[in-house]
Amino acid sequence: MKAEIITIGDEILIGQILDTNSAWMADQLNQIGIRVNRIVSVSDNRSEIDASLKESLSRVDVVLISGGLGPTRDDITKHTLADFFNSNLVMNEKVLSHVEELLSSRGIKVIESNRMQALVPDNCKVLFNQQGTAPGMWFEKDQKIVVSMPGVPFEMEYLMKAEVLPRLRKITGNSAIVHRTVMTQGIAESILAERIKKWEDRLPSYIKLAYLPGPQAIKLRLSAYGYEQGLMEKEVDRQIEELKKIIPEYFFGFEGDTLASVLGNLLLEKEATLSVAESCTGGYIAHQITSVAGSSEWFRGSVVAYSNDLKEKLLDVDSSLIEKYGAVSLEVVQAMVRGAIKNLNSDYAIATSGIAGPTGGTPEKPIGTVWIAIGDKKEIIARRYNFGDNRSRNIVRSTQTGLNMLRNFMLK
Ligand code: ATP
Ligand code: MG
Repeated sequence: MKAEIITIGDEILIGQILDTNSAWMADQLNQIGIRVNRIVSVSDNRSEIDASLKESLSRVDVVLISGGLGPTRDDITKHTLADFFNSNLVMNEKVLSHVEELLSSRGIKVIESNRMQALVPDNCKVLFNQQGTAPGMWFEKDQKIVVSMPGVPFEMEYLMKAEVLPRLRKITGNSAIVHRTVMTQGIAESILAERIKKWEDRLPSYIKLAYLPGPQAIKLRLSAYGYEQGLMEKEVDRQIEELKKIIPEYFFGFEGDTLASVLGNLLLEKEATLSVAESCTGGYIAHQITSVAGSSEWFRGSVVAYSNDLKEKLLDVDSSLIEKYGAVSLEVVQAMVRGAIKNLNSDYAIATSGIAGPTGGTPEKPIGTVWIAIGDKKEIIARRYNFGDNRSRNIVRSTQTGLNMLRNFMLK
């Protein structure tokens, strides 16, 4: 079954608010196996609402509408729907007494525009709005369903959960949608696509793959559309296990996992500790780590040694190394890892030193150059990267790369 969502409000179209209602509704519909075909936002205008409703009904069987039901204006949505469904507006006593009770309990005088909210089309099912004054309306015509709800997010959510979703669930049968999102780090989107091409080609036709790239991670979403939730979940999970085998060094978890949380679990398993020596990442690695609840179990701390003399004083980096190779170098990040393990007393360490940009490069070390080292008391691995001259993205990518380097080091 397919649905469309229409959100009504000038505030959306002038960019004053984000249309969060439609995202919330779409998520809920997917969870009960209803696919959303389009999301449309229109202004508080009768002909716009009317036209988009007609268009949506020409494509799908269910249309959910939010907004335009308040007492402040001419209740455009309600009148538009009443005309569309050839209804007469009648006073609903239950809604009226609810409106009067709600407002007087808040010490608000009930005026005519409030009473008007209890006027409802005579051929819809009135959806009682416990949370506010504007009721929801459920229309059915020619096997199609149109539901109108208020724009206020918590009122819309209440009506969806209490009235709309249970009714829709009854008619969707066993149709189901399964989404699973996996997290990868350390591989460019195009190379990733090449690497998993054969696996992707073998996916059953009802499972679709989507790439969602970002500086933190490239997410891969598998979406299955069909019947029987349980069976589809099993098949999607099986496909993900296959995928994991193809890209183990990049695949680090599922949506909600972070590299820091995954690394933390590995450290917990080994009852080992981690410290960090940060230059160009300026504490961002420590921030990612301390964002994980319970990280005090395995995280010792971080030194942000931005200046050369602090690298020497706090991390025992030999001044001759900095003079000879420069602060952004293999030798210095290696020494930072050693210094962190020793001075911060941990089993493992991560170190970063780079030129995050947008200025400060040299011909040998252009802007964006970052050296990252990870290791333990026995072995240190250092690599040179270039993450570009956008400072904040450079910091994020350096952080993620360092965390993933250590994850792979611990797994091998
Ligand atoms: P009215 O007829 O008065 O416009 P309404 O039901 O559309 O009634 P509004 O008063 O427009 O309700 O909106 C109430 C609140 O809900 C506002 O703060 C508005 O920003 C918010 N809101 C409305 N639509 C959405 C939406 N699609 N996503 C997120 N917030 C919304
Ligand atoms: Mg509105």
